[in-house]
Amino acid sequence: MIYKSTRGSGEAKSSTQAIIKGIADDNGLYVPEIIPEPGFDFKDLSGLNYRQVAALILPMFLTDYTVSELDYCISNAYDDKFSSGEVVPIVKAGNAWFMELYHGKTAAFKDMALSILPYLLTIAIKKERVDKTIAILTATSGDTGKAALEGFSDVPGTEIIVFYPYGGVSAIQERQMTTQQGANTHVFGIKGNFDDAQTAVKRIFGSKEIAKILEDSGYLLSSANSINIGRLIPQVVYYIYAYAKLVEQGTIDNGDYVNIAVPTGNFGNILAAYYAYRMGLPVRKFICASNRNRILTDFINTGVYDIQREFFVTNSPSMDILISSNLERLLYHLSGEDGKEVSRLMAALEINKRYVVKDTIKKNLCNFYGGYALEEETLETIGNVYRKYGYLLDTHTAVAYKVYSDYRNQSKDDTPVLIAATASAYKFAESTVKAIGLQSMGDGFKCIELLEKSTGIQLPRGLAGLENRRVIHKKVIDKDKLFAAVKEALRIENSANSEGSAY
Ligand SMILES: *Cc1c(COP(=O)(O)O)cnc(C)c1O
Repeated sequence: MIYKSTRGSGEAKSSTQAIIKGIADDNGLYVPEIIPEPGFDFKDLSGLNYRQVAALILPMFLTDYTVSELDYCISNAYDDKFSSGEVVPIVKAGNAWFMELYHGKTAAFKDMALSILPYLLTIAIKKERVDKTIAILTATSGDTGKAALEGFSDVPGTEIIVFYPYGGVSAIQERQMTTQQGANTHVFGIKGNFDDAQTAVKRIFGSKEIAKILEDSGYLLSSANSINIGRLIPQVVYYIYAYAKLVEQGTIDNGDYVNIAVPTGNFGNILAAYYAYRMGLPVRKFICASNRNRILTDFINTGVYDIQREFFVTNSPSMDILISSNLERLLYHLSGEDGKEVSRLMAALEINKRYVVKDTIKKNLCNFYGGYALEEETLETIGNVYRKYGYLLDTHTAVAYKVYSDYRNQSKDDTPVLIAATASAYKFAESTVKAIGLQSMGDGFKCIELLEKSTGIQLPRGLAGLENRRVIHKKVIDKDKLFAAVKEALRIENSANSEGSAY
């Protein structure tokens, strides 16, 4: 399997090389040259556990790894770090099936990919005979940061550096990151939002000058963001696993359609669903759910992507994003793999802050439904679902449920739906407490206590005792000083030419 750039430069990489590099030389994202079409009979997947399904899917994309290497990665990633023995329980509530993707160490779906990425990367480094330390730069809207820190903490040959929007994540998300242990972990708050962090990180990736400085100091850059293909591929697994479970339970027959609803920010999770569809998963509609930052809703409805709009900090902070990186990959596939066209659109975004897709792409977007939920609607949804079904949604999953309900009411389409449940409600305890009508007093940590007492739902292990852990990472930096922070973290001396003009 060869990986190419979405921007059409013709660069070709193996899966190990693409995972190490993270982003292509032309600043495009790596995409598989061909998406495998294995011709599933989902009845054959009946009875397989999560690890077994992963062992079936991953080798189709990661062809440079041996079977035993992938088995090693899978069995170490999806072990008892996951508090649910099933790894991904499929739970019915109301008229939807929730794929609970948040039973990993950091209580968000980012663990699904970031539990395995360090193993994939470590093996890739060995196979490619890389003799440098890998410096992993990560911009986070709140959940990727902690999952990446947890995954890479004290992994030999790596340094992990995380930038999060200061004041733009929940108190619990922030505390998870700032208390991270591990000699190779580095966390910085930035005075800006997620887009500022992601754009600055991408700029560092794009700079030959910076690459040279790092190389001279013994470092090679990589990414733990969903721009890395090593994050996207493991996410394909759970869609296929969940569908097979519905077949196994007799909820659907092999080959029946499902709808898939995903609370969306950087477009990584829903893109993995699209890959599963291209592999043969019978999906009728992809329901792309946004919060008040509804740029994807507008895009799906009009074909115009316009970032000249106000940015809102909401109660679903992991989706507070205006530049959804992985949409670039979808544009590539929907345009008939037209790298020139994608390159043109991305240049327009940079220069004009907007782009308009051509008719082919617009027509091919018809499998996607875009909708959004405002903050009040999100809380109302959590309250309603909890009262009616005793099922507790986090703010992000609630956005997806609300948008799915709107879709179902409008379309009368009652195809069974799989909803990606992306976080534990405890991560956003202040909002959850409010939503289910408890008298909220005090900060996020008090709310955790209150929530635990009144719902009896088990607190994820990773969040227990968080309040009393020592804060290790306290630095907050300007949004144009990321490279200085990288140098500080990696203990690179300032030489005359090392402060690149733009950084
Ligand atoms: C990251 C995240 C999302 C958005 O996922 P994308 O892959 O960025 O679209 C949704 N919900 C939660 C809880 C997240 O952490």
